[in-house]
Amino acid sequence: MPRRLLIPLLVLALASPALAGRRKAGPTSPERIDQASVQLMGRALTSDRAWEDLVFLCDRIGNRLSGTPSLERAIAWAKERLEEAGVAVALEPVSVPKWVRGAERATLLAPVERDLPILGLGMTVGTPPGGAEAEVLVVGSWEELEAKAEQARGRIVLYDVPFTTYKETVAYRSRGASEASKLGAVAALVRSVTPQSLSTPHTGALRYADDVPPIPAAALTVEDAATLHRLSDRGVVPRLRLELGAQHHGEVGSFNVVAQITGREAPQEVVVMGCHIDSWDVGQGAQDDGAGCVMVMEAIRLIAELPWAPRRTLRVVLFTNEENGLAGGHAYHAAHGTEDHVAALEADTGAGQPLGWRMDLRGEGEGVDAARALARARMAPIQEKLTALGATGLRESYAGADIGPLVAGGVPGLGLDFDTTGYWPIHHTDADTIDKIDPAMLRKNVAVMAITAFTLAEMEGRLRPGGAP
Ligand SMILES: [Zn+2]
Repeated sequence: MPRRLLIPLLVLALASPALAGRRKAGPTSPERIDQASVQLMGRALTSDRAWEDLVFLCDRIGNRLSGTPSLERAIAWAKERLEEAGVAVALEPVSVPKWVRGAERATLLAPVERDLPILGLGMTVGTPPGGAEAEVLVVGSWEELEAKAEQARGRIVLYDVPFTTYKETVAYRSRGASEASKLGAVAALVRSVTPQSLSTPHTGALRYADDVPPIPAAALTVEDAATLHRLSDRGVVPRLRLELGAQHHGEVGSFNVVAQITGREAPQEVVVMGCHIDSWDVGQGAQDDGAGCVMVMEAIRLIAELPWAPRRTLRVVLFTNEENGLAGGHAYHAAHGTEDHVAALEADTGAGQPLGWRMDLRGEGEGVDAARALARARMAPIQEKLTALGATGLRESYAGADIGPLVAGGVPGLGLDFDTTGYWPIHHTDADTIDKIDPAMLRKNVAVMAITAFTLAEMEGRLRPGGAP
């Protein structure tokens, strides 16, 4: 290379904060955190990198269920994007299930004949050749199932349960098949878990109990579940044929993407920012959880562009296999659980208006209340920095699935809290596509993530002094 080209390149490399900044060190101070926060806010709100990454992920890679080539493409792509920003990245092997949906069809045979849009539940077994054909027993609760236990044998049980909260309602999706199987049912159907519907079925994982035979299970639309319920209430027993081509193919290899900026003073103390890189095999996995992934990727890139590394290590983890196994979350915990995690952040409920954080700090005995109070007090300066974004909230609640194993061990968990009005109606459906994401909201979420993670990694104290109990 000619010298006259080489010299400007060298100058450019040295001027690049991501490359040069690590050499400068110095004590932290509230002023330093304020200055950095202003810079992070400004850059987050004017950068389109997160949005362009999401466009690429959705339109060029698409949905990415465990065991698919598209998931592994997404993992390789994310690694490359982070490395381009000068962040150190490792791929950590994780064994994940390979479940394949196959062809699916549900046909209402009586009192009228028509096809019903369905999605088999994730991890369901397939139906026997020719499908499962039976009368439908409709119930609205576990109690009603128990009361009608004798009618379940040889039938398809439909749970038509109205949405209350996700946590409460999702129990019918995860356990409904096994509860119905105990009573001799041949298949199970659930009303899609959503507060609103435009005739879209919602998938999601089920979990079979060990002690009962697995029976096939699928989600109906809210509208169709209500139709069958109305018929049943009027003494008309619907008859239905369910055909599910689902197959289990054991375990295959995947990876967690682990990227970090090593801390300048306390590298052994770690702040994690997490999301999941896998998705269901429908839609584009745009809000669940493509959005969360591009948020944390952009947040660490913005922090890498500051003139110095934060005091503590800042680590991004793109977890694999959240949707149908949580193998990534468990593998990360198995590999890193003994490290000193100062906090674990997660973004996994879309990209709506950010509201603040859901904090999950666990433990036993009297000390927990004091620990929570102290953590709240230490979050206060961060909340103040998020005022302009409308994200000053801090409520005590579940923080996220992938960081769950860390949080269960006492690491303070923080789940990015959103307005989820637009989230549930497209959750786990073909409609989870990028056109539902507002680029301006995505930028705000990046700002919340970057400022919070940076401050937790830079500030003098920690949310839980002394670490997890
Ligand atoms: Zn998710």
